[in-house]
Amino acid sequence: MEDCVFCGIAEGRVPSEILYSDERVVAFRDIEPQAPVHFLVVPRRHVESAFHLKGEDGDLLAAMFAAARQVCSELGVESSGARILTNVGPDAGQVVMHFHLHVLGGRPMGWPPG
Ligand code: AMP
Ligand code: ZN
Repeated sequence: MEDCVFCGIAEGRVPSEILYSDERVVAFRDIEPQAPVHFLVVPRRHVESAFHLKGEDGDLLAAMFAAARQVCSELGVESSGARILTNVGPDAGQVVMHFHLHVLGGRPMGWPPG
């Protein structure tokens, strides 16, 4: 998708601070961090949201969580933990229509979320 910013990051057309990359998954720092650690994990393939995943995407999801864990480990927050979430649609405030996990850490997270 040419006009999708996360496709652009995955393809190297849009600059970003890449933290992890493999054949299916890319992780990069959020441009507007909401915590000391805040990065996004995306599939290279354009998927609009979590509601657009298919039955055969189980391995892809596992790879995304494995990437999240590896980056958390490298950034020193694996043992302190992280909030991992995905926004779907307008009520959740999804702005970028390319499925992504937010991974937030480095401080205690409040509950319930805003
Ligand atoms: P969401 O509301 O879940 O769609 O969140 C989109 C997230 O993407 C926000 O936290 C933005 O700060 C982040 N974002 C948007 N553009 C970029 C970019 N070019 N590089 C890194 N993060 C971005
Ligand atoms: Zn995309």
